[in-house]
Amino acid sequence: MAKTAKSGTASSSILTSKSWEFLKKYIDNPSPVGFESSGQRLWLDYLKPYVDSHFTDAYGTAVGVVNPAAPFKVVIEAHADEISWFVNYINAEGLIYLKRNGGVDHQIAPGMRVFIHGKKGQVPAVFGWPAIHTRIANTDSKEPQPKVDSLFLDTGGRNKKEVEELGVHIGSVVTYQDGYAEMGYDYLVGRAFDNRVGGFMIAEVARLLRENRKKLPYGLYVVNAVQEEVGLRGAEMIARRLRPDIAIITDVTHDTTTPMINKTIEGEVACGKGPSLAFGPAVHNKLLAIVQETAEKNGLPVQMRAVSRSTGTDTDSFAYANDGCPSVLISIPLRYMHTTVEMLHRRDVEQTIRLMYETLLNLSPKTNLSYL
Ligand SMILES: [Zn+2]
Repeated sequence: MAKTAKSGTASSSILTSKSWEFLKKYIDNPSPVGFESSGQRLWLDYLKPYVDSHFTDAYGTAVGVVNPAAPFKVVIEAHADEISWFVNYINAEGLIYLKRNGGVDHQIAPGMRVFIHGKKGQVPAVFGWPAIHTRIANTDSKEPQPKVDSLFLDTGGRNKKEVEELGVHIGSVVTYQDGYAEMGYDYLVGRAFDNRVGGFMIAEVARLLRENRKKLPYGLYVVNAVQEEVGLRGAEMIARRLRPDIAIITDVTHDTTTPMINKTIEGEVACGKGPSLAFGPAVHNKLLAIVQETAEKNGLPVQMRAVSRSTGTDTDSFAYANDGCPSVLISIPLRYMHTTVEMLHRRDVEQTIRLMYETLLNLSPKTNLSYL
């Protein structure tokens, strides 16, 4: 299904050095589920010059609007929140036990550096782990496996009082320290590209529309939703409020070509081969066909996959909101989801932006999305 990519070489890039600078800043800024405000502020500051108005809702979903007076509403959406941990219990020795905040991966935690977001600012800490020497010396027990209830953080504080004096409290959120970096062959690595790359991409779509002086025959709502990682909650709230006529959602999807992933179950999608489109009941067939035609006309490669009862993305929240909203999912392939080394390919970023941009130019209030 994938066609050969013609675009995306450095010379024809639609993205500027300012764009990449913003991406780096945005990715390195922590945005834990339920505590997304600082990321939302960064994002809105970047977006404001490219929209006519903006607002935020009660839980911090941020929206930029082009043509706010238009009755027909089209949404492009991503989610702003990042999986993280909650401080749950501090023991007498000052070690901190945690709860998950979203689907954070316990298997990668041992030995990682984190920031605890406390009352006095960021507190550096580490996920402690017994040394290999002390593990293998104990011949009658199996190697310990990292589990949520056995993982702990060490701040240096040697009792509960010392930890609290650092500003750490029950309910402080915890994020990894790892940040953005560029790798060989146009790969990027970062923490929570899921889905802040989406926030970046929809902002770039708005920038390109404004800079290319495109006039849209409808109101465009550029939505960066909170709380996706705990059940698509931010999208649910904002979909009800906006009552859009069409929604285009972007999120990450798995590159299934790395080891230990079963392609007979997960299908085949790879980084560097273009955005991925999904068939599934929540994905509107006619809208999907428009996106596919748009890709073909513009020489943009796409990778198809099938989803079952749900897409597992905010697409579900928009599709099933209100009286039903024709929705489509445009995903960007990503390796190692929910780890701190999420990798994606620069050309996929550009092509996903272009596919959303060109699709928007093909839509109007007259677009026929009737099933029968
Ligand atoms: Zn996720």
